[in-house]
Amino acid sequence: MSNHDLLQQLASNPSCADDYDPNAMSVTQARQYIQQFLSPVEETEILSIKQSLGRTLAADVTSTMNVPGHNNSAMDGFAFRHAEAQQPLKVAGTAFAGKPFTGSLPPGGCIKIMTGAVIPAEVDTVVMQEHTTTQGEMITLTKVPPVGANIRLTGEDIAIGQTVLSRGHQLQPADMGLLASLGIAEVQVYRRLKVAFFSNGDELVSVGQPLQTGQIYDSNRYSLWGMCQALGVEMHDLGNVADDPAALENMLLTAAAKHDVVITSGGVSVGEADFMKQLLAKHGQVLFWKINMKPGRPLAYGKIGQSHYFGLPGNPVSTMVTFYQFVQTALKHLMGANAMPTPTFQVECVDAIKKAPGRTEFQRGILFKEGPHWKVKTTGGQGSGILSSMSQANCFIVLDEHTGSLERGSLVEVQPFYGIC
Ligand code: AMP
Ligand code: MG
Repeated sequence: MSNHDLLQQLASNPSCADDYDPNAMSVTQARQYIQQFLSPVEETEILSIKQSLGRTLAADVTSTMNVPGHNNSAMDGFAFRHAEAQQPLKVAGTAFAGKPFTGSLPPGGCIKIMTGAVIPAEVDTVVMQEHTTTQGEMITLTKVPPVGANIRLTGEDIAIGQTVLSRGHQLQPADMGLLASLGIAEVQVYRRLKVAFFSNGDELVSVGQPLQTGQIYDSNRYSLWGMCQALGVEMHDLGNVADDPAALENMLLTAAAKHDVVITSGGVSVGEADFMKQLLAKHGQVLFWKINMKPGRPLAYGKIGQSHYFGLPGNPVSTMVTFYQFVQTALKHLMGANAMPTPTFQVECVDAIKKAPGRTEFQRGILFKEGPHWKVKTTGGQGSGILSSMSQANCFIVLDEHTGSLERGSLVEVQPFYGIC
């Protein structure tokens, strides 16, 4: 069965697959379902190194040169023939980085050499300056290094023809330097993913407008903007759409026609006076899940035409958690990037944690250093509307389905929000 057929079948007849229960999905299962419907964008573009940060390579990069290009000195010292190490040696000239020694070296001779300078063909070893004594033009080795010492060999970093960066790699600052070190000025990358989002809810008001009683400011569009921006996609904020079926349908179809991905927040929960769900159901390719997780229980995934659709719950923390736990990886996959799970590690939690077994929780935590050890504390209240908890936090405390309440001092899994770059 094609992916398209499977999606339609699951959407129209959720009981068709044995292991598919839209009302009791584990986090892992939901990720797996989404994954099988994704295929990366195909179009590519050529960018200069400076424009390429964060972009995904669309082709392997192979080296057309050796790095280093010549045997060169790893030390300031003297280059000499190891067989002559025991005799006084006459300094026949100097080799600088970028200015090789061009003369010929008579027997019993050596060359004063600087770090990075080319090693002349006649010599095989470099002694560091500190292990020599000088009398006029002559030097004597006070400590003889092994043959071949202090020489960086041609191609020892990178050899001609070697794949230095693979397709699917997201370019980091070191890669930009690496490309330059190989004389490569441009790279082929996948085009940027086009992502649109809008929020849904009669109660929502955009910043800059006054609030009437019962209304709230639309915050999700701003956290979504930030999360999408951090991923380097091309984003389009389509605003807030009221709970009006015609307006929603119009916006949804227009957005899907022009974007690779459409993300909405709000209106996908069960049993509410929200129209989003009914509308999406009408288009026939959207799956509605209740995921065994907290926060972020309702989630919709599907396709509207060629566009991928993610319907996130409206509660501000749920929107962010579901974005990080499902949408982010999916977007990376669509960008052509190699899937790299976000690292998690275990630390001691200095607070007691309340939790019922049966679902995965993504509590908000603050990693801090106590003496030599990293520990974590919770941000306090864990309600799905408490957006300040995401703002204070620097990590998720990930508690799996089997975990129940924990005493203070327990080891917990954390997933940091930020790395070094
Ligand atoms: P919903 O998913 O539409 O049922 O919304 C769940 C809760 O999230 C409700 O309290 C909404 O008012 C709130 N909410 C929905 N969308 C947003 C938004 N864009 N910004 C802030 N809060 C929202
Ligand atoms: Mg709503």
